[in-house]
Amino acid sequence: MNRAYNFNAGPAALPEAVLQKAASEWFNFNGTGMSVMELSHRSKDYEEVHFGAVSLLRKLMQIPDDYAVLLLQGGASLQFSMVPMNLLQPGKTGYYVLTGSWSEKALKEAKKIGQTSILASGKENNYKAIPVISGIRVQSDAAYVHITSNETIHGTQWHQFPKNLGAPLVADMSSDILSKPINVQDFGLIYAGAQKNLGPSGLTVVIIKKELLSRGKDELPAMLHYRTHAENDSLYNTPPTLAIYLFKLVLEWADSIGGVEKISKLNQEKAKILYDVIDNSDGFYLGHSDPESRSLMNVTFRLKSDEITASFLVQAKEKGFIGLNGHRSIGGCRASIYNAVPLEHVAKLADFMRSFKSQY
Ligand SMILES: *Cc1c(COP(=O)(O)O)cnc(C)c1O
Repeated sequence: MNRAYNFNAGPAALPEAVLQKAASEWFNFNGTGMSVMELSHRSKDYEEVHFGAVSLLRKLMQIPDDYAVLLLQGGASLQFSMVPMNLLQPGKTGYYVLTGSWSEKALKEAKKIGQTSILASGKENNYKAIPVISGIRVQSDAAYVHITSNETIHGTQWHQFPKNLGAPLVADMSSDILSKPINVQDFGLIYAGAQKNLGPSGLTVVIIKKELLSRGKDELPAMLHYRTHAENDSLYNTPPTLAIYLFKLVLEWADSIGGVEKISKLNQEKAKILYDVIDNSDGFYLGHSDPESRSLMNVTFRLKSDEITASFLVQAKEKGFIGLNGHRSIGGCRASIYNAVPLEHVAKLADFMRSFKSQY
């Protein structure tokens, strides 16, 4: 069977090799006579999966020892609440940089927990660009500064992270984690829902500087406390074992093709293919974001009129391209080209975009 040209925004394409490996072990994992889903999460076979995944992530992202890696549930959306619950002490302020829908949502939840402030916002500019905040130092009341490293809906991405802000940097990296090398030490906390670049939905990865674990009050509900999960190696309660298994296979795949450096080069190539079509279309395709803030993960664009956009989407669907509709909140088109989307599929989409244009 042919694989679909899958440009879904999330859940999204997974590497074919991962699906094949999972299929081959589906009925009998590691000679246990059971699938991974049927193993006890306290068994040795499962522990190898669990701790293997964490150490591979540590290797691929070069996560230093003074950071804990937590495997949680509840999606990135739960982190919108857990971050302020654990890091925002009374009398302190959580600073947010607004770059689109996801950062707005993160701020909305934080407001329910404590004092917040908007450090910078791209809203007046229709979220076409990432605001420049380099050189800014926050006041001494700052508990943290929150950013969204890639705005999945608008198609913008931070290409340089702020440094020396005067407070720990917290980043929602749901849609670009593992897509390029980053320096984990520049962050106090990184979180990501797995369903874009790391695996299936149901798993959320949190990378937190250990010194921040002491901030959460003891009164916090155990499941919402980072310390609970850190002290129990993310085995306080039953973890999402199947999702973690698939996460590990995705990490093995990433490692096998050359790690984050190689993936980053591929991602640059893939994005260039599509942005070149947009830029060389004489305004037939209109990119949403300013070139310097363009996302390498989510390519957002419109066509000259709503009618032509609709017709583009219908024809694309007929040709087998899946998931090209823009998010319902902003419309237009969006091609999500996460790590697992093959370059050949991106090239096929570029061919289609050129041939669609030639009809007009
Ligand atoms: C998809 C996404 C989310 C939401 O993730 P859930 O796991 O569905 O809660 C949050 N932030 C960003 C940047 C995303 O891309």
